Amino acid sequence: LATLFLDRIDASDLNAFLHVDRELTLAQAKVADSRLSDNNAGQLTGVPIAHKDIFVTRGWRTTAGSRMLDNYVSPFDATVVEQFNAAGMVTLGKLNCDEFAMGSGNENSYFGPTLNPWDKRAVPGGSSGGSAAAVAARLAPAATATDTGGSIRQPASLCGVTGIKPTYGSVSRYGMIAFASSLDQGGPIAKTAEDCGLLLNAMTGFDERDSTSLQRPKEDFTRSLNDSLQGLRIGVPKEFFGAGLAADVEAAVRAALSEFEKLGAQLVEISLPKTELSIPVYYVIAPAEASSNLSRFDGVRYGHRAADYGNLDDMYRKSRAEGFGEEVKRRILVGSYVLSHGYYDAYYLQAQKIRRLIAQDFQNALAGANRQCDVIMGPVSPTVAWDLGDKTNDPVANYLADIFTLSTSLAGLPGMSIPCGFGQGEKNGKRPVGLQIIGNYFDEARLLNVAHQFQ
Ligand code: GLN
Repeated sequence: LATLFLDRIDASDLNAFLHVDRELTLAQAKVADSRLSDNNAGQLTGVPIAHKDIFVTRGWRTTAGSRMLDNYVSPFDATVVEQFNAAGMVTLGKLNCDEFAMGSGNENSYFGPTLNPWDKRAVPGGSSGGSAAAVAARLAPAATATDTGGSIRQPASLCGVTGIKPTYGSVSRYGMIAFASSLDQGGPIAKTAEDCGLLLNAMTGFDERDSTSLQRPKEDFTRSLNDSLQGLRIGVPKEFFGAGLAADVEAAVRAALSEFEKLGAQLVEISLPKTELSIPVYYVIAPAEASSNLSRFDGVRYGHRAADYGNLDDMYRKSRAEGFGEEVKRRILVGSYVLSHGYYDAYYLQAQKIRRLIAQDFQNALAGANRQCDVIMGPVSPTVAWDLGDKTNDPVANYLADIFTLSTSLAGLPGMSIPCGFGQGEKNGKRPVGLQIIGNYFDEARLLNVAHQFQ
């Protein structure tokens, strides 16, 4: 199985993989083989997986898509990688992503963009573009990804595969290179909800090395896959269907909603009035946390160091100027600004308060005595995948495209994307549309159930 996928990866021109190492993979596959013959195998033993290049791995380089970490090899494995290794999964390599997971099109990778397998003129989405493209092109049956403001759901949507971001705190962030720590959450991208459930079973759990890891009993995320959807109340937020939503995406999402009605569910119009504010709030909080997290890349402890420099300050300055790309620098500047004395109250603190209100919107719909629905559905991305290069010089256009994914991240809720049809690309290519399913905290098993009944 590992050889089959490695051969496909070799033959692929999508630039989804940044690092492969046949020997390392085959050595792991051998161990899996012997576990299988010793009857010491679990459900995932021997199944290949590829990791977003933001999870550190012993043996493989880990670059986070940045020149800063071009030749970095971690001395330890991320908890998530450790968990999959322990389950007997076989690592195929490391997947391309936007630099430090900042982006929505995988075009911010120092190693060049990943191409969308459905239409190579299109972006695969981001930041986990390599993960989604690899699964869509059958270069890997499963991939890890991370979602800070949509980076699991949006590339899954644009590549026509399934991805789930679990409740914040469910998956360990240890060894996941930090972007915005109060938002970052790992999760799987795979072909189906069932596969995602099996992967979540392996990758969730308390980790004392992550200070925001949640202590919860182990659960089987596949336990309700076959439950009926009779009587399920689906909240349809009116703010997710306003101006800016492309007609082809709306049509595919509405068609999916009708399918759910046929499966016995009931549609309820709801309102999440603070949705629009999630863009300014996220683009204050995420850069603020990023500017702090990225201060560790100073050319001293690890990372790129400039070849020629004068004094220490000059070394920092040159190393960071050379090591970071444009988008990362932009975020460090914005983040440092909103955290600085005199602006902290006006921007950062204000954003934190609105973040609370955004979370409250969801609780009004999903919780309490007057709850209106069991899950929420809507589009993941306002458009299908756009053409490579179309938004490269317009960061704000990229930020605006995150409108439907950011609020879930700010609230820390679980959200997933499942394929629900196709729209038209600008040049008439057939490009996938994803349906977003959002649930209350710890309702992953229900999200997977809802997705599985549709698939
Ligand atoms: N597109 C968003 C950003 O650029 C989200 C990225 C992510 O979830 N990692 O920040």
